[in-house]
Amino acid sequence: MALLAIILFVVLLCLIIKGVQDTGDRNPTAIGKVGENEVSFILHSLPEDFLVLDDVIIPDQVTDPNKKFTTQIDHVVVSPFGIFVIETKNYSGWIFGKEKSERWKETFKTTDGHFFYNPVKQNWGHAYALAEHLKLTIRVFKPIVVFSNECELHVDTTTPVVYMSQLKELILNFTQEIIPRRDVALIFDRLSRLKLIGEEIEEEHVQSIGERFIERETTMRQGKCPRCGGELKLRNGKYGAFYGCANYPKCRFTCDLQE
Ligand SMILES: [Zn+2]
Repeated sequence: MALLAIILFVVLLCLIIKGVQDTGDRNPTAIGKVGENEVSFILHSLPEDFLVLDDVIIPDQVTDPNKKFTTQIDHVVVSPFGIFVIETKNYSGWIFGKEKSERWKETFKTTDGHFFYNPVKQNWGHAYALAEHLKLTIRVFKPIVVFSNECELHVDTTTPVVYMSQLKELILNFTQEIIPRRDVALIFDRLSRLKLIGEEIEEEHVQSIGERFIERETTMRQGKCPRCGGELKLRNGKYGAFYGCANYPKCRFTCDLQE
């Protein structure tokens, strides 16, 4: 009985860890969400010819021609002065980066910093994806990266990278009308529909992760390897006991014993 309890515990742990790995980079952190909400508030305070759509999920055609995956864009603002594509970064350290470099860095006085994917590149990717979906020229798109007021920017870019407190003024500084006013509402409608399609794909994706999760759980509860169906065996390794597939080395599935 005790063994069964341990097995169940281990299986559950493995599933939780795997679940986090599967969905980890798709879920914005709670901190990220706070930043997005603040930016959303600022954007919704723009004059009424600026139409705002938050949390725009679109089918990702670039990396996936079958459109099974999605890309999430924090905010899109459609206006006669252009389509603003906004990426929010809620960081608090010193930010170093250049327009074309692959990675940017956030550093802190007391602790080590970390690298993150160049948000300017990331955001141009969003703009190109939107241009493709909406069948519009890339020239009407204005990507903007917004950082929290808490951080300190040391960046060298031609694409606007600003503090949250500068965002409204920056957008209002675009005064040349480049999209006919009658088209603004039409583009916004198309974008809203695209967002719905993206959300449906996203929902299916989440559902299929859920289904796989349950399937794995059932298999492992039966003491079977979720990868190849082989027997799961308790083994002793250098770093302690773990469950491994009996078909090793053909199948390298393992599950850590953590207590
Ligand atoms: Zn196996």
